[in-house]
Amino acid sequence: MQAGAQTPALPTLRQGKRIVVKIGSALLVDEPTGDVRRAWLDALADDVADARAAGQHVVIVSSGAIALGRRHLGLQPRGIGRGLRLEESQAAAATGQIRLAHAYQEAHARHGITVAQLLLTLEDTEDRRRHLNARATIDQLLALRAVPVINENDTVATAEIRFGDNDRLAARVAQMASADTLVLLSDIDGLYSANPKVDHAARHVPLVEELTPEILAMAGEALPGFSKGGMVTKLAAARIALAAGCRMVIADGHRPRPLARLAAGERCTWFLPPAEPMTARKRWIAGSVQPAGALVLDGGAIGALGSGKSLLPAGVTGAEGGFARGDCVLLKAPDGRVVGRGLVAYDAEDARRILRRRSAEIETILGYRGREEIVHRDDLVLE
Ligand code: GLU
Repeated sequence: MQAGAQTPALPTLRQGKRIVVKIGSALLVDEPTGDVRRAWLDALADDVADARAAGQHVVIVSSGAIALGRRHLGLQPRGIGRGLRLEESQAAAATGQIRLAHAYQEAHARHGITVAQLLLTLEDTEDRRRHLNARATIDQLLALRAVPVINENDTVATAEIRFGDNDRLAARVAQMASADTLVLLSDIDGLYSANPKVDHAARHVPLVEELTPEILAMAGEALPGFSKGGMVTKLAAARIALAAGCRMVIADGHRPRPLARLAAGERCTWFLPPAEPMTARKRWIAGSVQPAGALVLDGGAIGALGSGKSLLPAGVTGAEGGFARGDCVLLKAPDGRVVGRGLVAYDAEDARRILRRRSAEIETILGYRGREEIVHRDDLVLE
């Protein structure tokens, strides 16, 4: 978990070939004027130009649409992203996104770099066909030497179907783009053992090799209701990125040239992906942000999955939610702990009818011969 004699050397930004950089509103937008911090953005574009000159592909995931748009619509700033109703945020994003894209375009034009805007919704990343389409577009833009600048499509996303935070969106984009490095530029230089703002004994953690329960506990509690940003969503982003074989780093983005400072070894927290890569299909399953339901497993089934077996109806004691065949569902232990996720072979209604039953009984119960497994081992990923 921590750097020490036996731990691997810390990675460096220079090793990255395809880098996704997530930029939060607080870095980009000046409060309270609500204007773009142009000097900071110009310096970031200098970083991007250097990275490209070193042969690296760069994809930017940037927030700021709401923070930039609100003032122009006369919506009172009460702290970034806070205090607006959903429709107001959507309206603010609609006008702010133009300003955001324009600022990126101008800052990068100084280096002759073309930027390209992509606005994605949660569904674009959860639906496999749309996911692959967006991936092809990103690949094409990079092949044409453009820098994709991506944000959530805030104007069409409603409360239930939005990321709401660009940390997880950036991780999904990293997975989509087969990036090897995800950089979350933040207002803090990494993960601490406790919240350093309230606990002076909090230790900085330079390297995370596994997302253990202890590491997850360091993020503290999610804010009640809608958690936006913060360490909780950063660790949720880490889960997605690491499953995709992409290393992640949390670094302080406040001072100009954050990428150059990171490359020079400034303090940060690196998260390393597991040594054994997953197939693309499994990466996509592992990165699912909005599972359609859950299956509750008994102890025997959890043991069987651990030794590489498929999930059979006999080991499932409950089915939650209204999932359809092929949807991604969570796999839970009897105490509610999530042990994995996978693509389910039956609709919720049929799944409920075959709970705890032997596979040989499926045909008699349902009247058709479905799959023996309720989740096949090729379609599941353990946490
Ligand atoms: N997509 C939102 C925006 O552009 C921000 C989400 C976030 O800050 O994580 O304003």
